[in-house]
Amino acid sequence: MFLEPHFKGQRSGWIEVICGSMFSGKTEELIRRLKRAKIANQEVCVFKPSRDDRYSLEKVVSHDDNYLLSTVVDDSQEILSLEDSVQVVGIDEAQFFDLGLTEVCQKLALRGVRVIVAGLDMDYLGKPFGPMPSLLAVAEYITKVHAICSHCGNLATHSYRLSSDDNQVLVGEKNLYEPRCRVCYAMGNILDLKAKRKSEKDSTEDRVNQDSLPLS
Ligand code: ZN
Repeated sequence: MFLEPHFKGQRSGWIEVICGSMFSGKTEELIRRLKRAKIANQEVCVFKPSRDDRYSLEKVVSHDDNYLLSTVVDDSQEILSLEDSVQVVGIDEAQFFDLGLTEVCQKLALRGVRVIVAGLDMDYLGKPFGPMPSLLAVAEYITKVHAICSHCGNLATHSYRLSSDDNQVLVGEKNLYEPRCRVCYAMGNILDLKAKRKSEKDSTEDRVNQDSLPLS
């Protein structure tokens, strides 16, 4: 579990990145850290990109409905106009921001702000996503969280897209993606076909078993 660093003397800012695949608990971890800062009476501000419209325009919401109120911005530069009194900035769905986000986070950290960024490190093709790789390079602290592979139960690092849509951004719920480990991700739709065949076989066996029940 991530523990906040202690500083002796003058307080300085820094960047924390929480990354991982879909369903790995990134937003839950972001919310946990921000709520702890709020309990300590620190002034907290949360931002998310306008492209993420899954749940709500004003809330950072995790899959389990935990949420914090947030400001929706179109451009990462807008984040710099926050009040000087803000001590902690949270940024969710960072992969959807423009590439200028890395510089924005560095400017905030230099101002003395604690910046906590959460986002997908890879897109559905397994490629580094938006500003995430450069944010990971400049961050002081990195936490990679994992989901559980839907097929084998190992730790999942990849977001496998169940639909054939090839847009990089296809914001969606559980039925569009599933978390997979490296090996199951590489197997691609072979696993889908296997699972489909198994469920067809199971339902046929069920029917046979029902047919062979003794008549009463
Ligand atoms: Zn697996």
